Amino acid sequence: MSESSFIQRSVVVTGGSRGIGKAVVERFLAEGHKVAALGPSGKAPEGALGIACDVSDADQIDAAFAQVEQAHGPAEILVANAGITKDTLILRMSDADFDNVLQVNLGGAFRCARRAVKSMLRARWGRIIFTGSVVGLYGSAGQVNYAATKSALIGVARSLTREVGGRGITANVVAPGFIETDMTADLPAEVIAKYQASIPAGRLGGADEVAAAIAFLAGQQAGYISGAVIPVDGGLGMGH
Ligand code: NDP
Repeated sequence: MSESSFIQRSVVVTGGSRGIGKAVVERFLAEGHKVAALGPSGKAPEGALGIACDVSDADQIDAAFAQVEQAHGPAEILVANAGITKDTLILRMSDADFDNVLQVNLGGAFRCARRAVKSMLRARWGRIIFTGSVVGLYGSAGQVNYAATKSALIGVARSLTREVGGRGITANVVAPGFIETDMTADLPAEVIAKYQASIPAGRLGGADEVAAAIAFLAGQQAGYISGAVIPVDGGLGMGH
């Protein structure tokens, strides 16, 4: 596809203030798109529209998407990336630990996709990318809640593909391995060393490497890829 066929899109990234989401926002901005970053802090990289929004609240999502529509037009690309962890072994995991992670990681992704799909159906074009995780299929001790949300996103993307795939809309999951962000910054050095030893690439990944896969799936040329899980994990999950 030639450069002259570039189409500027309205992009929404949840959790776009930091880490992987921030790299995604910066990548889309660099490509020339209009980008909104949604998150509790309302912070966004320079050049993006920052909107305060907790994805566990449907009303806040509705208001945020309305603001995007005003500023940039209806969302054409949604990157449902917001995610939290509340790690502990199952015997110590409270109902609140379980429910909170589900509400943000899975409920938030569902609510944003439901809101975004409305206008995508009208446009007969859309790209939805969920940030999953290698642990969604690999499993992870101490992350029953988190891993459950990440494998569930695959079911969401595949069901969406069956519902709206005939209308020019794709839904995929990008499954990062260990990426250097705030989420992994607190891990003890020995835990990081252990993980690193099991990653064929021999290193942790960069947020920009995840952003590159997401940008590819969001592109015009990825229109025939849907319901896929794309690992960005240095070979850790071996493609599952
Ligand atoms: P960070 O902890 O660096 O950033 C989390 C982001 O999520 C922030 O932008 C934060 O916004 C936002 N967020 C938190 N809670 C909410 C909420 N209730 N509503 C909306 N936004 C919220 O995370 P990462 O960049 O590391 O992770 C991003 C995604 O990638 C997550 O889904 C995570 O599960 C996944 N992932 C990360 C991996 C890693 O190794 N880092 C590996 C595999 C997957 P604010 O700044 O406003 O609080």
